[in-house]
Amino acid sequence: MTNTRTSRSGAAAHTVGLDIGGTKILGALLDADGGLVAVTRLPTELGPDGVVRSAARAVHDVVGAAGLGIDVVGGVGLGIPGIVDARAGTVKHAVNLGVAEELPLAELLSETLGGIPVVVENDLNVAAVGAAHQLERDKPGAARHEDLAFLALGTGVASGLVMDGRLRRGVSGAAGEIGHVPIDPSGPECSCGQRGCIETFVSGTALATAWPSRHGRPSPVELFEAADAGDDRAVRVRKQFADAVAAAVRLLALTVDVRHVVLGGGVAQLGRPLLDVVRESLREQAQASPFLASLGLAGRVTLAPPDVPVAAVGAAVLGRRDERPEEPEEFGAAPSDPSAKDPAAAGRTEAGAGRNTALAGTKTKGALTWRS
Ligand SMILES: [Zn+2]
Repeated sequence: MTNTRTSRSGAAAHTVGLDIGGTKILGALLDADGGLVAVTRLPTELGPDGVVRSAARAVHDVVGAAGLGIDVVGGVGLGIPGIVDARAGTVKHAVNLGVAEELPLAELLSETLGGIPVVVENDLNVAAVGAAHQLERDKPGAARHEDLAFLALGTGVASGLVMDGRLRRGVSGAAGEIGHVPIDPSGPECSCGQRGCIETFVSGTALATAWPSRHGRPSPVELFEAADAGDDRAVRVRKQFADAVAAAVRLLALTVDVRHVVLGGGVAQLGRPLLDVVRESLREQAQASPFLASLGLAGRVTLAPPDVPVAAVGAAVLGRRDERPEEPEEFGAAPSDPSAKDPAAAGRTEAGAGRNTALAGTKTKGALTWRS
């Protein structure tokens, strides 16, 4: 985390990070040492103008919450759902935000803020960076914290990857899109066109189908309560869910061997009971396999801190770095395929809230907003 930006006054700069969602913007102000100084939360205005306007308001708000002026801010990072071109600073297909066409968000917000540099990143990627940053803050001195997957269990399922301290976006921005890896060929049909994808077992949507809310509370909460009370079917549904999360963890560990897998997203608001059942599944799987046992997967899984807006913090961390992604590549589809113009739109599912249209989105952390 070098290359800390300096503010216009020449002093080492604070940075602001924003986690822009369909209903709210969470903001975080970091000082020059990366310490969290202030947070804010504002409603999101929809549409291109609304997103820029409310983002600018959130920047001023979080700086004001710390009793500071905008002149201390040397950089701003944004995490946003939709198809993000981090290099160009643009976003499109952010359906929950009312943004369809490509929006030069970094440029417009920078103008609104009087020239402060702005970077834009996918919301899951900033969550991964924020989770790595937070682990390091909680247990300082270990570079190994910069090797992590943030596994978002939201409306959909996807992950953000920080490997050896660097964000892994992938050549087409699809790195970590594990929700659509099939784990059961005879499983339920998925919105992506395959069968038995991880997302059909693990997501908030899948849980709400398997165990509909009966008492007005989120279905994951009601499911876990019913299972604790001994309801046979609830026990089975919870076990299937836990096994599928464990499969996602195993998949991440066996492909990129990250040291930490941090569970986040709306379903992770279950907290400790979620962690317990996932670890139990991982231990069961390890019992049958000395190979898996040697990897110690249960010990790698943790929960995102409930009291820290990790995505906003991660966005602020990226606002501190002069780290630009390389040129995106276009490949993978036949020339006659219309999706060839837009590799990010080919075969991926919007995991964001309030949307079930496949094939037009990109990974998002898909937070369920049941406690917001
Ligand atoms: Zn799928």
